[in-house]
Amino acid sequence: MKLGKKELLILSGFVGVSVVCLCMMANKVYKKHDLTRIPSEQIVMPVVVLGSGPAGLNAATYSARLGLPTLVIKGDKPGGLIADTGFVENWPGSAKILGSEIADNLSKQAELQGALFLDDTVARVDFSSWPFKLYTEGDRCIQALSVIIATGSAPRKLGIPGEQEYWGAGVSACAVCDAPLYKGKNVLVIGGGDSAIEEAIHLSYYAQKVRVLVRRESMKASQSMQDRLLDYPSVSVEYNVQPQEVVGQQGRVTGLKVLDAKTHEQRIIPAQGIFLAIGHEPNTRLFKDFIELDETTGTIKLPRDSKQTSLEGVFAAGDVERRRRQACVAAGSGAEAALDAKEFLDGLGFTKQAAAKLRLFKPDMTGVDADVLVTPAADGSVKELFSLADFTREVQEKKGLVCVNVLDAKSPAQEVVRDVAQDFAGTVAFVTVDKDKAADIASRFFVEQTPCRLVFSNGSLVARNQKDMDAQTLREFVGSIAQEAAAVA
Ligand code: NDP
Repeated sequence: MKLGKKELLILSGFVGVSVVCLCMMANKVYKKHDLTRIPSEQIVMPVVVLGSGPAGLNAATYSARLGLPTLVIKGDKPGGLIADTGFVENWPGSAKILGSEIADNLSKQAELQGALFLDDTVARVDFSSWPFKLYTEGDRCIQALSVIIATGSAPRKLGIPGEQEYWGAGVSACAVCDAPLYKGKNVLVIGGGDSAIEEAIHLSYYAQKVRVLVRRESMKASQSMQDRLLDYPSVSVEYNVQPQEVVGQQGRVTGLKVLDAKTHEQRIIPAQGIFLAIGHEPNTRLFKDFIELDETTGTIKLPRDSKQTSLEGVFAAGDVERRRRQACVAAGSGAEAALDAKEFLDGLGFTKQAAAKLRLFKPDMTGVDADVLVTPAADGSVKELFSLADFTREVQEKKGLVCVNVLDAKSPAQEVVRDVAQDFAGTVAFVTVDKDKAADIASRFFVEQTPCRLVFSNGSLVARNQKDMDAQTLREFVGSIAQEAAAVA
C-alpha cells in the first residue's frame, strides 16, 4: 500500500508523539530511582538479602559473583529451616547430605564470592521511598538500592487449647531439635504430609512409639515417602483423628484430646511429646503494606515473569513466593532473584564506577558511622516540635545531625522539607517548628523571621541559614554540613 503525503504527515506526527511519551515515561521511572540524587555521605547497600536459608544464601552468591556489593541480614534463624533438617536425599549432586551441611556450604560459598553478613534481624521496613529502608532489631537503619526477600516460612500451629501453654514443654515443631528429649517415650506427630513422615522417622530413633495422626482418611504425603514408613515398625499411622486440646499436668504434656471424624467420639491419647507437621506459613507480614500478597496463601505475588514483586527493586525468592518448600527450588529461585536485581540495577546505570562513588555499609561499622546508622530519627520522616521539651528530646539529646526548620504553618517550604528529608534518610534527621505554635523554641534561638534553618550536630548548633531555599539549595546546604561532619569524624 502506498501512503500519500497527508497520511505520511499524520503517521510521522503519531510516531513523534509516541516517542515523546515513551521518553517521558522512561524519565519518570529513572527519576524514581535516581542514583545521582544519593548524597555522598549517605550509607547504602546495592543489594540487601533478607534471610539466610537456601534462597537467601544462593541469591547472595549470585549477586556477589555478579559484582554487586551484597549484604545478607541473617535473621533469627541463620541457615533457615534446612539447617534443622536431618539427612536430605534430594539436594542436587549429593546422594545424602545433612541439612546443616547444606546451609554451611551455601554460606561459605556466598562469603567466598564476597557477600557480607550481618547477625541481625529486620524488624520493620519502609519501602515507601527509595533507597529502601530496613530497620533492624539491633537498632540499625540500612538503606538498600534493591532488596531480595528470602525470609522463608515458619511452622503452622494448630490453634487449639493447651498448644501455647505447653509449647516447648512437650509441644514442638522440630523433631531434629527436640527428639533426643523423648528417649523411650510415646510421642505423636500431627499431619499427613511429607514433613510428618520425616518427623516420625527421625523420632523413631529415640522414642519408644510414634503415632502419626492424620485428620483425613488418607495421607497427603507422596507414596514413596509413605512406603518408607514400612521400614520403621515403631511408627504407626491413624486416620480421621482431629486434634482438639493439648492436655498436661504439672507443666508437662500428658496427652492429646482428639475427635474421631467418623464416629464423633472424643478420647485422650496419652503421650509425652506432640510434634506438629501441619505445613508452614510464609514470613511475609513485614511487607504487607508495601507489596502485594496472595490473600489465601500469604505468599508474595510476582506479577511479572520474574522474581520482581509488585514493587520495582524488591524481589522475592524461596518459600515466601511459592509453597513447594524444597531447598533446591528455593536456591534456584534465589539465583533468579539475584539476576533480576542485577537487571534492575543495570537499568539505573549502576556500574563499577557508580558503586565506587557510593558509601557502602559495612557490618563492622563503629564510631560515627555506626552512630549515623543508629540515629533513629533520621528515617526520612519529618517530625513537628511543639515545645521545648520536644526540642530537648528530638534535637539536643540526639546523636548525629538534625536540621531544624522554623516555618510558617502554610508555607510551601513545608513540602520542600519533606522532599529533602527523604534524601537524607539515615544521615540527617529533619524536624519542623511552627514559629507561632512554638514561640518559645523560636525565641530561644533568636529566630525573628521564617523560614530559618538551624543545624545541630550531637545537640550543638553548628549552622544557621535564614534564606528562603528551594529543594536543591536546601539539599546543598545540608549536604555540605553533613560532608564536613563526616570529614571531621
Ligand atoms: P503439607 O501442606 O504437604 O501437609 C500438611 C499436612 O498437615 C496435611 O496432611 C494436612 O491435612 C495436615 N494439616 C493441616 N492443618 C491441620 C490441622 N489443623 N490438624 C491436623 N492436620 C492438619 O506440608 P508439609 O510440611 O508436609 O510439606 C510441604 C511441602 O514440602 C510439600 O510440597 C512436601 O512435598 C515438601 N516436603 C518434601 C520433603 C521431601 O521430599 N523429603 C520433606 C518434607 C516436605 P490435609 O491433607 O487434610 O490438608
